Amino acid sequence: MRNISELNTSKRILMGPGPSDVHPRVLKSMATPLIGHLDPEFLEVMDDIKFMTQQTLKTQNPLTFVVSAPGSAGMETCLVNLLEPGDEAVVCIHGVFGNRLADIAERCGAKVIKVESEWGKPINPDDVKKALANCNPKLLAIVHAETSTGVLQPMEEISKLTKDAGALLVVDAVTSYCGVDLRVDEWGIDALYSGSQKCLSASPGLSPVTFSQAAIDVLENRKTKVQSWFLDLTMVKNYWEGAKRAYHHTAPVSAMFGMREALRLVLEEGLENRFQRHKKNHELLRDGLEGLGFEFLVEKEYRLPMLNAVKIPAGIDELAIRKRLLNEYDIEVGGGLGPFAGKIWRIGLMGESATTNHVNMLLGALKAII
Ligand SMILES: *Cc1c(COP(=O)(O)O)cnc(C)c1O
Repeated sequence: MRNISELNTSKRILMGPGPSDVHPRVLKSMATPLIGHLDPEFLEVMDDIKFMTQQTLKTQNPLTFVVSAPGSAGMETCLVNLLEPGDEAVVCIHGVFGNRLADIAERCGAKVIKVESEWGKPINPDDVKKALANCNPKLLAIVHAETSTGVLQPMEEISKLTKDAGALLVVDAVTSYCGVDLRVDEWGIDALYSGSQKCLSASPGLSPVTFSQAAIDVLENRKTKVQSWFLDLTMVKNYWEGAKRAYHHTAPVSAMFGMREALRLVLEEGLENRFQRHKKNHELLRDGLEGLGFEFLVEKEYRLPMLNAVKIPAGIDELAIRKRLLNEYDIEVGGGLGPFAGKIWRIGLMGESATTNHVNMLLGALKAII
């Protein structure tokens, strides 16, 4: 017989690529007794979440809501609603998540034109310009904060090129949202998805999404049905807005309670203060890590404050040290993905994990181990 005792996990310090630590107020809100997902009180919770999501994304888009599934489902929501078989899509790839975008776009039946850069470097706008000129693009998709490499992608020039080509701009802001500057309306972003578990510091499993009017126009003029029933926005949107609020699926009520409180915390702190906090702690961590012999993968100008990709110094057994960090110090940091497996660490300072205490705990543990 398997003896299954009451759940009792270790108290971890989350400094990987997500999830991040969660504020006690968010955890407390998730223990609120359930109400029905069509209860007028829950519809108000949804309206609160929508309003605060618009504010944190700096958008007026009426079609702004939360997909009841993780960031990857937000990614899929943007692409399955906007692409039809035979469409051409330019997909920028500078890490794992660009590859995932390309894979999904291909599964939608689109012809994918890839714009690639070496991992650890941003996408070059000149390459984007060439790719857009050589096809008839319905959209361009790009990752704003590439969590697999720690690169912050400058957006404004690529946005302008995309608009000039008459294409929609689709942006992955899973890691950038609530950690660095992000302006949906000002930057001309047509469809954007994020995640709840990175710099927002809510529990994993929800994906904020927003669509511009131009994106809605494309959706409404489709010739074919959206391939996915669950992610079809023409139906989901009747659950999130309008007078009817029709049943579509049962929302994850407790997770939504948590998301509402996490958004309240962001607005209480203020977006600018939050960005500054991420930056300040990134600098503190950088100085400490460099003192220990770690080098950053990404050039200073393009570094993400919330995801620090550092090369493992020679002679260090990275897996053994990561195991000791977890087992002896309860600290989680991320390893490298793809070509960077075994070569880099990805140290997250996301949301509630972007504090001076977190930085000092990790540096103290590393000094003791190395
Ligand atoms: C984490 C992440 C995703 C995927 O989110 P999940 O919640 O794990 O599905 C997508 N894009 C980027 C850039 C991410 O960091």
